[in-house]
Amino acid sequence: MTMRYEARPIAENFYEIAQGGVRCFLFVGDDFALLIDSGFGGELRPVIEAITQKPVKLLHTHCDRDHIGASDQFEDLYMHPADFACCVKKNNLHLPLQAVWEGDCIEVGGYCLEIILIPGHTPGSIALLDRRHRFLISGDSVQNGTVYMFGEGRDLCAFEASMAKLRDLQEAFDVVYPSHGDLTVAPDTVGRLLTLASEINRGILPDPQPAPDHMPEGVKVYGKNGVQLYLHI
Ligand SMILES: [Zn+2]
Repeated sequence: MTMRYEARPIAENFYEIAQGGVRCFLFVGDDFALLIDSGFGGELRPVIEAITQKPVKLLHTHCDRDHIGASDQFEDLYMHPADFACCVKKNNLHLPLQAVWEGDCIEVGGYCLEIILIPGHTPGSIALLDRRHRFLISGDSVQNGTVYMFGEGRDLCAFEASMAKLRDLQEAFDVVYPSHGDLTVAPDTVGRLLTLASEINRGILPDPQPAPDHMPEGVKVYGKNGVQLYLHI
């Protein structure tokens, strides 16, 4: 039994496609539509086709299961190559992925989405920055839910460097759209995650909170100032 995808407009040519605790985004242009992530899996393509008949390019923020579950319903797939290997390894899924790179810009529906590589949560995690409309799509890396930072492919030092990179870009955006938690979070979430990661990397640990029962043994929640990470320390 898979959860339903539910589409809601955010702005002109820009939609949220939510599925339980994860969300995808859709931009509709004149020549093509750009789908960001595909959720856990299930009936996604009909939901997209109810909004647009344009050919779909599917760009992944990263390779985790809850972002690629319905990707086999689409033909034109993109991901940062630093996540190609872990897409296969973690999910045993051989998708015909094409590369996007740091600094690439995708023009669609009046938006201009610039690819920012932010490794840490996964090696090839990306954010998308629209400087014209002043928003950042952050994947899992910037959110007010709990960021998964334990297990294979996670790197808290790289994550700290990526948060510093986004903080240096903070003048360029007024709102962040994450894949989990609230639909929008404030740009200063980046700085709070940077502080948290930086302190943990230097051995300053906030008191851990227990993780939910479904999480692996030994994983705890380390949080401060409204942001938190799942870690296995
Ligand atoms: Zn996720």
